[in-house]
Amino acid sequence: MTENKCEICKKAAKQFCSSCRAVFYCSRECQKEDWKTHKIKCKLFVVQNHPIYGRHMVATRDIRAGEIILKEAPLIVGPKQRSVPICLGCHKPVSGSYACSKCHFPMCAPSCESSKYHKAECAMLAGATAKIKIDNMESVHPAYECIMPMRCLLTKGTDQKKWEAISNLQDNVDYIVNTEVGNIIQRNVVDFLK
Ligand SMILES: [Zn+2]
Ligand SMILES: [Zn+2]
Ligand SMILES: [Zn+2]
Ligand SMILES: [Zn+2]
Repeated sequence: MTENKCEICKKAAKQFCSSCRAVFYCSRECQKEDWKTHKIKCKLFVVQNHPIYGRHMVATRDIRAGEIILKEAPLIVGPKQRSVPICLGCHKPVSGSYACSKCHFPMCAPSCESSKYHKAECAMLAGATAKIKIDNMESVHPAYECIMPMRCLLTKGTDQKKWEAISNLQDNVDYIVNTEVGNIIQRNVVDFLK
């Protein structure tokens, strides 16, 4: 068995971080000293790469029921890929009685037009040559397929940190190119946005 070494002084160490169990310490003093740097890395999981399944999390120890593994705000919020018409300001269902005065997508009311989620895309959608017209509020509309990709792309100009995080996400382009789903995305999202 290999002997564990203290993170700080490299002496033989028997104590370990009880939270992640990934690092060892010879004493409480060394553990205390390391906490400033370790607290950022201290997690219940490590990220690994699998040739087929891609990036994934692997637990570093048994995790109790109800224990928090990860807390993270979403990078982007918006309609799912196949969505019935929803308000692009508050994401609630819409009745069809009101449309954004600039981009003409259905919305609840004027107050939703100025929502922080809708601001950047509204300017771009408003510049489209064909004016959007959505009549049926009950059935899935393809226009909503492009909203999330658009919101991701727009962070490039509005939030560099978000854009970097999005760029680092793993894509599956190689798996879907020239498939039925890939062709639908190409037509409804890529070609449409261009
Ligand atoms: Zn030590
Ligand atoms: Zn730890
Ligand atoms: Zn709304
Ligand atoms: Zn709008």
